[in-house]
Amino acid sequence: MVASQRRVPFLSVLRRALLQVEGEIRWHEPLAPHTSLQIGGPADVFVIPSDVEDVIRVVQGARMSRIPLMVLGGTNVVIRDKGIRGIVMQLKQLTEIREEPNQLVYSQAGVRLPRLMQFALGRKLSGMEWAAGVPGTVGGGVAMNAGTRLGEMQDILQAIDFVTLHGIRKRIEASTVSFLYRKTMLPKGIVVGAWMQLTSAAKDTIQSATKQYLQYRKSTQPLTLPNAGSVFKNPSGDSAGRLIEVTGLKGLRVGDAEVSTKHANFIVNRGAATADQVLRLVRKVQDSVAIKFGVALQLEWKVVGER
Ligand SMILES: Cc1cc2nc3c(=O)[nH]c(=O)nc-3n(C[C@H](O)[C@H](O)[C@H](O)COP(=O)(O)OP(=O)(O)OC[C@H]3O[C@@H](n4cnc5c(N)ncnc54)[C@H](O)[C@@H]3O)c2cc1C
Repeated sequence: MVASQRRVPFLSVLRRALLQVEGEIRWHEPLAPHTSLQIGGPADVFVIPSDVEDVIRVVQGARMSRIPLMVLGGTNVVIRDKGIRGIVMQLKQLTEIREEPNQLVYSQAGVRLPRLMQFALGRKLSGMEWAAGVPGTVGGGVAMNAGTRLGEMQDILQAIDFVTLHGIRKRIEASTVSFLYRKTMLPKGIVVGAWMQLTSAAKDTIQSATKQYLQYRKSTQPLTLPNAGSVFKNPSGDSAGRLIEVTGLKGLRVGDAEVSTKHANFIVNRGAATADQVLRLVRKVQDSVAIKFGVALQLEWKVVGER
């Protein structure tokens, strides 16, 4: 009784915050199906804005009502089992891609990287091959400075189409931003699009580089089981996968969460894993590697939500 009495005012604040929003609004939406790991409790409210103006409405509503807001692409996050309080926004309606003069490509944030790569290939534009097999969105890729040993987002990023937490849309030049390993130092806000500088190349060259890298991924990563990409950042001069493998942790399980037997820096969901199991497994791996090598592995994943 007391719990539901407490809940009602928060939900009505949420409803008021989203009154002007035109896109889809889903209450108590289970988030597991929106993640590549297939894990996570519900969001109080899940919003799919219809366009950038709608993103601004969501941001302004959240700000005025002081409601937490996050964007979910879903491929590098672990959502805890009790889910996320406040608003979770998915940008899947922001799907425009266009070619501008001088091999510049603008993509809205909800576009998945594989689709952007297809677009670039179709126009014989090179520069995105490093992203072959990275399933996240352009927005997540910019926010995380997504990358592989072949390259990263910062190599091609020209400018970011950005909405501040005050709901102001602005263009941020990439030359004014610091990029770290899997982190872009942006102000708080939402990436709604990005301009990327590509170069002309023969279609065959782009295609064969992409194919080669996809094959490499297929042979080294557990792509047939739900996962969220690399669990840990590579420590300087070494690889997290090597440290975990040499510690003998491949195949280690907590419930249905398992250190992949194919690639030690992946944790896979063997069926019904919970976030709690996954995070207990993460701690076991960190403790074992720290004892054996004295290295503190840092998470690449973003862990969000309520315990
Ligand atoms: C099989 C597999 C392989 C992968 N391989 C790689 C790899 O080689 N290299 C690599 O870098 N990543 C890899 N990833 C992880 C992932 O695809 C990328 O990191 C991607 O950049 C995350 O994008 P996302 O849209 O899923 O964002 P999410 O994982 O949902 O979010 C990551 C963070 O970015 C924030 N965010 C997302 N969108 C926005 C936005 N529009 N504006 C502001 N903040 C935002 C989120 O709130 C969160 O804090 C892999 C994942 C899988 C499942």
